[in-house]
Order: sequence, then structure tokens, then C-alpha cells
Amino acid sequence: MTLAKSAVEAYVGLGSNLEDSVDHVNRARQEIAALPGVVEIAFSPLYRSLPVGPQDQPDYVNAVLRISTELEPLVLLRELQQIENQHGRLRNVRWGARTLDLDVLLYAQQSINEPDLVVPHPELSKRAFVLYPLADVASSDLQIPGLDSLSQLLAACPPDGLRKITV
Ligand code: ADP
Ligand code: MG
Repeated sequence: MTLAKSAVEAYVGLGSNLEDSVDHVNRARQEIAALPGVVEIAFSPLYRSLPVGPQDQPDYVNAVLRISTELEPLVLLRELQQIENQHGRLRNVRWGARTLDLDVLLYAQQSINEPDLVVPHPELSKRAFVLYPLADVASSDLQIPGLDSLSQLLAACPPDGLRKITV
């Protein structure tokens, strides 16, 4: 598929810690890439990470997808939420276990502050399971709007038990 000139680059964070997490993340990657108005640029390796928030839940599988998209930010968010729902995502406990979590990490160089959408994702700079896979698909001089370059954020964020999944 080709995209019009209005296409911008965006980064989507994928996470899962219920059922077959590797399968949920891999299928979600394909479903996002198949959305009209989205083209995949790169997909990071899969990582395993320790849960944030409640500790009585399984480890997570995480990855980052770099895309080019014509979808406006809120339209992209709605599409991602629909994919979450198709994966049986229930919205109950904050930071609780989930079959699939899809977050808009970055959208071009935009800072967005809407009730339903905050970009860059507010936790991005603190989360190893976002920054390390992001570094696999982005240039290290990528600027995170309102923050530092990706390489500076990485230098301040220890890997925290993050492990690359090898198959
Ligand atoms: P988290 O991803 O922080 O664990 P949830 O996925 O449960 O939390 O949060 C979902 C809510 O977060 C949604 O209602 C959505 O509107 C809001 N939200 C705000 N900013 C973003 C973003 N950048 N990406 C995804 N969801 C976001
Ligand atoms: Mg989320």
C-alpha cells in the first residue's frame, strides 16, 4: 500500500500478560499493519518484563511497532482500542493483567494533551520495556517532544529485569 504525503511516523507500544502473550502481540502487530492508512516500518524484538503496579500477575511481553500513518491521532487510538477489544481486553484494574495493551507512544513530533490521549505517552521516559524496544526501531537521536533524545532517556533508565525473548 502507498500512503499520501500527509503520512507521518508514529510508534505504538504493545504489551500482554495473559493467555499466549507472544501470540497476542504478534497478531496485534499484523492487525495494526493491516489497518487502512497504516504501513509498518519496523517491529522490535519481543521482550519479557516485570509487571508495573500489582505484582501478583504474570510477566509481560512487550514490543514496539514503528509505523507510517495517515490516521489522525485520535482515529489511530480508536483503531488500537478496537484491536484491544477484539483480543478480549477487559478494562478493570489499573495496571492490572491484560490480554493486550496498545499505547500511542509518539506521533510525529506532536505533543497532544486531550482527555483521551496524551502523547508522548506519559510513562514513556520511565519504562525500560518501552525505551529499549523503541531504541531497536528508532534512531538514537530521536527527540521525544518535551523531553530529551532517546539516547539520553535510555542512559537514565536501567533495564530493570527486561529480557529479550529469543526463539
Ligand atoms: P496503561 O496503558 O497506562 O496501562 P490503559 O491502557 O488501561 O492504561 O489506559 C487506557 C486509557 O488511557 C484510555 O482510556 C486512553 O484514552 C488513555 N490514553 C491516554 N493517552 C494514551 C496513549 N498515548 N495511548 C493509549 N491510551 C492512552
Ligand atoms: Mg494502554
